[in-house]
Amino acid sequence: MTNSITPLQAFDDNYIWCISNAQQKKALVIDPGDSQVVLNYLASHAYQLCAILVTHHHYDHTDGINGLLQRYPDTPVYGNGDSPCSAISQPLDDGDHITIMGQEFQLLTVPGHTLDHVAYYDAKNQQLFCGDTLFLAGCGRIFEGTAAQMHQSLQKLMALPSAVQAYPAHEYSLANLAFAAAVEPDNKDITQTIKQAQQKRQQGEPSVPSSLSQEALVNPFVRCHIPAVIVAANQKAERQLASQTDVFATLREWKNNF
Ligand SMILES: [Zn+2]
Repeated sequence: MTNSITPLQAFDDNYIWCISNAQQKKALVIDPGDSQVVLNYLASHAYQLCAILVTHHHYDHTDGINGLLQRYPDTPVYGNGDSPCSAISQPLDDGDHITIMGQEFQLLTVPGHTLDHVAYYDAKNQQLFCGDTLFLAGCGRIFEGTAAQMHQSLQKLMALPSAVQAYPAHEYSLANLAFAAAVEPDNKDITQTIKQAQQKRQQGEPSVPSSLSQEALVNPFVRCHIPAVIVAANQKAERQLASQTDVFATLREWKNNF
């Protein structure tokens, strides 16, 4: 495959992921919250914009769409057919496949952070663009859905092959890992991942993507079945939590105030 993936930084900590093809001079972007950073990047490489993918309706993922459409008027905008984002021109359902620049993406609905949240999964290239649902060692806040929905959505993503690389929309890794270490102080994989993420950040590089196999080792929100995580959540809640969903809800609440 000749496509490459570039993180375009926006606002304080957003990543607008750009998939480009240098031969074809084409690019697509995922969650363009800011049009200017995308326009600058496209212009500097003489790329034509050929698609916009939206994971959910929040402004920091969608506010750049109109500016991009002014410059590239016929660009299709893909997203959840039930999204309140009015710029979506190509509404999709769970399981739908789209092919852009030779890459095939499957749309996965993952409600919780918002009700319209979706992820884009390329099975062949083992890439997952997961917006504000899954972060390195963390997950999005629950704004519109329930804890049960968010927990289910994370499990849906973790059921994908473990080698899949997850591309989140924010650089939250170090804060997430600090929380993960508070939940599981004896988890050596977390300690190791903190070192790796610190190194990358010191070099000015993104700490992401991460693999789902790594998330399985360090992300407390996908480890609600692990005894050490359950013990920590029980202590926080000061009771025996009855289910993994309760463990998840307790962790999410704990992180909100961490
Ligand atoms: Zn969001």
